[in-house]
Formats: sequence, structure tokens, C-alpha cells
Amino acid sequence: MKVVGLELVGDKRKAVGIYWGDGRLLDLSRALRIFMMAKGREDPGHVESPQDAISRGFLDIGLLSDLLSFVDAHRLYEDLLVRDPKLLAPIPYPSKVIALGRNYASHAKEMGHEIPKEPIIFQKASSSIVGPEEPVIYHRGLTRIDHEVELAVVIGKTCRHVMEDEALSYVAGYTVLNDVTARDMQASDIESKLPWFRSKSFDTFCPIGPCITLPDEIPDPQSLDLSMMVNGEVRQKANTSEMIFPVSSLISYISSIMTLYPGDIIATGTPDGIGPVFPGDIMEAYVERIGVLRNPVVEEDRLCKGPG
Ligand code: MG
Repeated sequence: MKVVGLELVGDKRKAVGIYWGDGRLLDLSRALRIFMMAKGREDPGHVESPQDAISRGFLDIGLLSDLLSFVDAHRLYEDLLVRDPKLLAPIPYPSKVIALGRNYASHAKEMGHEIPKEPIIFQKASSSIVGPEEPVIYHRGLTRIDHEVELAVVIGKTCRHVMEDEALSYVAGYTVLNDVTARDMQASDIESKLPWFRSKSFDTFCPIGPCITLPDEIPDPQSLDLSMMVNGEVRQKANTSEMIFPVSSLISYISSIMTLYPGDIIATGTPDGIGPVFPGDIMEAYVERIGVLRNPVVEEDRLCKGPG
């Protein structure tokens, strides 16, 4: 199953969509209310994002299977169809985005670093999140910004001190994340022994989407092809089997330090092939079984000038 955050045409309300078997999109927010009330359960009210749905326990695969069977049995499909969806970031305000440095040996090598012996984690500001098709801003004063395609894990349940063998049961689903980086700033901060936080956290530097794929379609997150294309040219290409620390060990490690909350995001690191992008470029980050996350790069001055 795949779910998306979307803005409805007309009243412009934010809502959650779920893909039907034939690839068309249904209004899950409305379907949930109809389904819950038909089952004699409490009206859930409006669910405005996949993040909202996760934190309230609605992205449960069993519940969603029952809901889709109900929609089918009562022929509600046509009524719930979403036309011309505008997709939004599926997790708009996570409590945190924890990212991995050098989690693919190929990327550690291209940056001139040793393979790490334990995970290197850092944070990206939650306010840097944008959704599919939203511009990534080439902020004034920066001299180089890079693309980094990554598989992102979305946490489903509050957890702390998770054992590796049970870690995947805390995953709500997976999405694509482009860990956009102000590379020159990062390099100078590393040289000065300063944190990476600012170079990773400019507004718009964390595109996520286009959907969240639930674990029924990704039982094993370590066997997914991923790639990055810029203007149609392949720049990065790898498989998640090449991660140094797999998803289960990352959840175990990070939760040994901090509590993970529903909607928290773990960006699992990027493979080799990172490189600069420029205003006018189109980045397309892809992870198998999730899809393509497409974002244009736009110069800051251009956005500030406005129309005309
Ligand atoms: Mg990265």
C-alpha cells in the first residue's frame, strides 16, 4: 500500500490519499470517517496528513485492508476518487529528521573518509522539509549545493532501546529523501570542527515523497534500487543492500540514544555519485517500490523578485 499527503482541489483542504490497485488515488481521510462510523466506532474527524494518520494509528495494514474491502463491497470507489491531486510532503512536521553520514562505503570513499565503525548521525532541521515538485532554493551566498538520494524510514510507534530483531516492527513505512547539502559550507565546517547542522538545514533542503510505502510492499528494506537523475542524466545508482548499517541496526542504535516518535524520519545515507546542482536543474530521486521524487532547483533571487 502507498499513501500520500495531498491538497484537495476545490476547498484546498489537506488530506491523505491511498492508491487503489489500479493506481488511482482515493481520499483516505473521507474513507476513514465513513468506514469507522459504519463500524460503530468513534468519528475520527478529519485526518490531514499521513503524519497525522500515523500518530493516530490509522496507517495500520490490517485496518487499511479492511477499509479497502469495505470501499469495494459498498462500491464507494467512484465517490472517493481524487482527481488532479497536488501532492504534499507526507510528513510535514516530524519531531526530528535524523540523517546518516557515510552509510555507503562507496560514498565514504569518494569523500576521502574511512568506513565508519559505528553510525555517524546528524540532524536536519524539520523546517527544511518540502514535498514533491516544490523548488529547492539555491540560497544567496552559497557556492555549491549537492543532491543526495536516500531511502528514508518513517517511524510508526514511540520507541526507545529497540532490539535489532524487532526494529522493523516500529516502521510505519518508507519514503524517498533528497538530503540536499551546502557542500562548501559543510567542508569548511568539518575543517573547523564545527557541526554539519547548518549546511544540511537551509529551508527547502529536505524534499521527501512522493508517497509513503507501507511495509506490506517493502518487507525487506535492504534490497531496493535507488538512483538520482539530474536533468535526465543518472548521477547516483546503487542498492540499499550496500548500506554499512542496515535499517534495523540504525533504529536500534538511534533509539539507544533518544526516544523516536511516530513520524520521525531516519535518512539512511547516500551512495557515491553526489555532485552539484544549479538553478534550472531538475532533480529526480528514485527508490524502488516508492517512486520518483522530483524537485527543481531555483535561485533565491528569482523567487524573491516575484511576478514581472
Ligand atoms: Mg546524506
